[in-house]
Amino acid sequence: MPRAMMKPKMSTGAKTAVNLLGKSATELGVILESLGEPAYRGAQIYHAIYAERRFDFATMTNLPAALRERLAREATIALPKIVRRHRSLDGTLRYVLAIEEGKPASVETVFMPEDERQTICISTQAGCAVDCQFCLTATLGFMRNLTAGEILGQVLVALDDNRFALKPQTNLVLMGQGEPLLNYDCVMAALRILLDPKGVAISPRHAALSTSGIVPGIERLGQEKVRPNLAISLNASSNEQRGKIMPINRKYPLEKLLDACRKYPLRSREWLLFEYVLLGGFNDSPADAHRVVSLLANLRAKVNLIPWNPGKLPFERPDPARVEEFRQILADRGMLVFVRDSRGQDVMAACGQLALAEAVPVPTAP
Ligand code: SF4
Repeated sequence: MPRAMMKPKMSTGAKTAVNLLGKSATELGVILESLGEPAYRGAQIYHAIYAERRFDFATMTNLPAALRERLAREATIALPKIVRRHRSLDGTLRYVLAIEEGKPASVETVFMPEDERQTICISTQAGCAVDCQFCLTATLGFMRNLTAGEILGQVLVALDDNRFALKPQTNLVLMGQGEPLLNYDCVMAALRILLDPKGVAISPRHAALSTSGIVPGIERLGQEKVRPNLAISLNASSNEQRGKIMPINRKYPLEKLLDACRKYPLRSREWLLFEYVLLGGFNDSPADAHRVVSLLANLRAKVNLIPWNPGKLPFERPDPARVEEFRQILADRGMLVFVRDSRGQDVMAACGQLALAEAVPVPTAP
């Protein structure tokens, strides 16, 4: 029986309230039917939670008063709870959130305001097992997969917390703690709601999922009807080099990874994004740049160069002149290449820095 068709057990009396967060419109309809309500109430609740961000049943005025009261007793919308906010000088906010469905854990979400939009970076696992050597999240180890509600709940919390300063466009990146393609089903269940025009309504073109190179996950993602853009964390110009900083390369070496990329069914105006963390003196030489050009030949690819964010790990920030030389070599060979501005470094919110570090918290927003 498909999961969406299973009747959830509705709690009564003092039993545990059912959590509606992360449920699709169909799943909500089934829950409402189990309460003796018409299934279309599920679509109304879906709209209230995801499109209107109403998290208190009392404010769902599209529902009859008696149903609102019953839901308040028997159901819940279990959003992640804000434990800390760390605000960077550049305006970036790093949230430490408590998630409590099943085993309690903490995750991080980053909110980056810009002139015309905001970008939200979310976690898909608590910690990570992939063990990239340049990433502080790896030092946490793997704690657990997040549920669909915990994944999309991070976006709702960040939007709601910044509700008085939101810009018209929201970009979403799955680049926080965890390897999204190792939590595939929950990630996709969350994305279907986040990218649904009737749900959270983020445009798929403004969403990106970043993977360390989980080949079966890339193949699956390519078959999805609705999906975000795909970003691949490349970070090296040879198997030998990549194997030193990304143990996952032993399982999915560059030949397999790039073969999956070549077979990925790109749509019109869709590009693969390759991220390349530049580690000073390790992978930032002109020879590396030329090898990257060869590796990515015949791929519709953009490259983001990310100068290493200094942290507790034994790598060095690349010299700015080396970064520019690397960029120029790619650009001269006709590649679309950008140097990514790393935001939130002072509060450990930048790429590869998410490891629940302490920094001075800022007061709660009104
Ligand atoms: S870079 Fe991503 S996949 Fe690699 S250890 Fe960090 S969180 Fe995990």
